[in-house]
Amino acid sequence: MDHYSRSARNTFSGLILSRKLPPDVPDFGQTSSRALYVVVRGDEVLFDATQSEPLLLAQNMLGGCDQDHLQAMLLGDDGRHCYFAVNIDRLPSGTASCLGSLGTFVPLRRHAAAMPSQLAALLGYARAAAGWHSLARFCSLCGHPTAPKPGALAQTCTNPDCGAQHFPRVNPAMIVLVHHADAHGERCLLGRQSTWNPRVYSALSGYVEPGESAEDAVLREVMEETGIKVDDVRYFSSQPWPFSDSLMLGFHARAINTEIYLDVTELEDARWFSRHEIPSLLDSGELVLPSAETIARHLFDAWYSHDYTDRG
Ligand SMILES: [Zn+2]
Repeated sequence: MDHYSRSARNTFSGLILSRKLPPDVPDFGQTSSRALYVVVRGDEVLFDATQSEPLLLAQNMLGGCDQDHLQAMLLGDDGRHCYFAVNIDRLPSGTASCLGSLGTFVPLRRHAAAMPSQLAALLGYARAAAGWHSLARFCSLCGHPTAPKPGALAQTCTNPDCGAQHFPRVNPAMIVLVHHADAHGERCLLGRQSTWNPRVYSALSGYVEPGESAEDAVLREVMEETGIKVDDVRYFSSQPWPFSDSLMLGFHARAINTEIYLDVTELEDARWFSRHEIPSLLDSGELVLPSAETIARHLFDAWYSHDYTDRG
């Protein structure tokens, strides 16, 4: 399987959308019947009242809500609809409560894996755009307020002597499933953070720092967090992670040594899990794997099914 196809299987990936404003949808869609708005509040998206379907608001659904202050952010056009994200956290309170009253806010992660993949990817994109929007209120060069740039996912500084344009930023992070095999069998290395749900163990991860490649970050983070040295680092797939504005770059890597020296400031625990004991640990609930919307789960499943290498 090629890397595009593998990444497209990750939740929030594979979105097919033209990211340019089409000529028939002017002024942020406010006069277009093709415009649909995704309303975002923090990590939540507006759903219908029964919480079964995300509510993509058309013009005629906005009703009495004040549309002059929507500050809609262009997402893109799929040929049928032109999509915009509305960050409710930055709206005047009257407009925000009016939009919020049209449905119910639901955590995106709770529903993402069960949604059609294109819809989950669209909502993830909207969440990422809104998250950036909340952090781009002021110009990082001169400190003046910013305003949406028409026809683009960008903010422009309102200071006429500055005028800087600010675009969404993506933070690269690596995530790696470390494995080891010897005469006793095959094992993988999983860690957990103290804030996670009980007994959840996952692949190791960390941000790529200035001056290093993604592969450099794999070697550094695994060594820092667990004292394990790795080689045979192999890229697997990537996933946009909208809740932290990250691009997760997924790898498998082979451990050279196996004795763990835990950095307790990073992880609460890290352990080797042998292939033969994993089914019984899952059955008993002693081990809980990351949920289906995460690339961490795909990395684990690929290792477990022996689908983790490009075979040279
Ligand atoms: Zn400025």
